[in-house]
Amino acid sequence: MLCGLVFAATAAAAGGAIRVLIVDGQNNHAWRETTPALRAILEESGRFTVEVATAPPKGADMSAFQPDFASYDVVVSNYNGDPWPEATRAAFERFVRSGGGFVVYHAADNAFPEWKEYNEMIGLGGWGGRNEEHGPRIYWDRDHIEFDFSPGRAGHHGRRHPFLVVARKPKHPIMKGLPRAWMHASDELYDSLRGPARNLEVLATAYSAPNTGGTGRDEPVLMTIRYGKGRVFHTTLGHDVGATRCVGFITTFLRGTEWAATGKVRIRVPRDFPATMRTSVRGK
Ligand code: ZN
Repeated sequence: MLCGLVFAATAAAAGGAIRVLIVDGQNNHAWRETTPALRAILEESGRFTVEVATAPPKGADMSAFQPDFASYDVVVSNYNGDPWPEATRAAFERFVRSGGGFVVYHAADNAFPEWKEYNEMIGLGGWGGRNEEHGPRIYWDRDHIEFDFSPGRAGHHGRRHPFLVVARKPKHPIMKGLPRAWMHASDELYDSLRGPARNLEVLATAYSAPNTGGTGRDEPVLMTIRYGKGRVFHTTLGHDVGATRCVGFITTFLRGTEWAATGKVRIRVPRDFPATMRTSVRGK
């Protein structure tokens, strides 16, 4: 068993298929639509094989929900709902701490406000009653992360609109080769997220404009977090299927998932990547 795992992890790093588990089943977002969209993005790249673990519906008995995380290179969460059983939480902590990859997709950072280790993994979260006890808000100030310890709730977004995503770590493997700034297709721009923000790097930010109901700050939209030996990629983008058609979303999601799984990025930047003044969307 152990040999098989080691071999598979090595195969993924060497360019073999990366095994992805998408977790869903509850979300205040349209997970029945976005999970197939994420799955198609991953599979069409040719770099990943994908399975899905769907938790029981809200309020149902959750005790049998015990995905075998250790059989995958990376877990993508499209889940925002009831607490998982203690054994499942412990298995997930073990998986990431021992070097598993984890991708936090949009409202997955709304999940589990009460789960301390999960909040360490995601770095920042919003809603669910989070407040200053969960950690500071963070934002980008010219060339560094600024921490805002003032009290108050966590998680907000203004009106949906296209917005400029600005690279802050252009040499990071996920960001390398991307334009310094690109126009993301219409989406929610999360702001005022709070959390422990330990071992967190901000890869990209977007300006949350007051005239669309935002904070007037450069808010983190793409992040990485180190948790034990595990790598976490956190994207706040992708509210619905329309937002996931943006080639900027697709590319950073693919590269972030690959990096979380292997620590390296082979997936190239496509020719139809958006530009500073132009969005680029695939499909209808
Ligand atoms: Zn949303």
